[in-house]
Amino acid sequence: MSVDLGYVQDLAAGALAGRRLTVEEATVLLACPPGSPAAETIWEAARELALRHAREGRIWAAIGVDYCPCPQNCSFCSFGEKWGIVRDSHEWSLEQIVAAGKSFAAQGAAFITIRTTQHYPLEQVCGIAEALRAAIPGCPKLVINTGEFSAAEAEQLHAAGYSMAYHVFRMREGVDTGISAKARLATLNVIHRSPLDLAFLAEPVGPEHTPAEIATEMVRARDLDATLMGVMARVPVPGTPKAPLGALTPEQVAHAIAVSRLVAGTVADDICVHPLNELALQAGANAIVVETGAVPRDREEIAREWRGLTMDQAREILGRYYPTVAGTAA
Ligand code: SF4
Repeated sequence: MSVDLGYVQDLAAGALAGRRLTVEEATVLLACPPGSPAAETIWEAARELALRHAREGRIWAAIGVDYCPCPQNCSFCSFGEKWGIVRDSHEWSLEQIVAAGKSFAAQGAAFITIRTTQHYPLEQVCGIAEALRAAIPGCPKLVINTGEFSAAEAEQLHAAGYSMAYHVFRMREGVDTGISAKARLATLNVIHRSPLDLAFLAEPVGPEHTPAEIATEMVRARDLDATLMGVMARVPVPGTPKAPLGALTPEQVAHAIAVSRLVAGTVADDICVHPLNELALQAGANAIVVETGAVPRDREEIAREWRGLTMDQAREILGRYYPTVAGTAA
């Protein structure tokens, strides 16, 4: 596809000036080949927006609390029971979760995310937030990443101490996932009307997804007023149906991050990339993930940090691209 550089420059300038990009415009930007003059224009604008709006690097710490086969059988997830990767079931105790949360908070996490599989009991989810708030003075922003919930349950989550929900209309939701698109949209609308902030990455993105599909999810997140956006590239976990399709290159991920930053504009200050990709930090991402426990991108439960990325390393890496990192002295 040939790209009109002048048009891309106009779109980038518009985003810098606060204009909300449409799906069609974001599709044009995503279709620009990484490394092309048009892509360089997009990355430069994204970096400028990142320094203007995010201004600092932030670490998203995540604790996967239950390791068990999930009947939803999403085609990219190691927990899908049909794939036979996760056979036993166990979950972290409240004490273990609180200890991990305290450690993440002490090391400067800006967000602590509690992640569960689809059917983890809401009462337990709420109990975790209450315990973390009680144990951690000045507790970082608590994020819940769980299954579907109602408006009343959103209020319960907020009252328990969560201030943000990570919830996503996944790529090809209802086709590649075991959850209906309608149910997923219903929860997203619940969050939009609730006191919970929304975090919504375009994910899990693989090489088969078109620019239009990716742009649609970016604009959906922005129009739901997500305060954290970004891109999660699919990790091809051996044994899952999507694994043979492979993964995006680091350049493709970074380019999608740059477009995500321009789509987010002034709506979402934080643009997150996961898994870690330093090119993406040059292209406008300011948040990276340190995670432990049950990780749907791996065949094993993670006792320490996924792929060995520690809080210290995350801070050091973010510090290469941002003058300050949240949770550390300037
Ligand atoms: S992505 Fe979530 S809902 Fe889908 S199989 Fe994995 S744990 Fe279950």
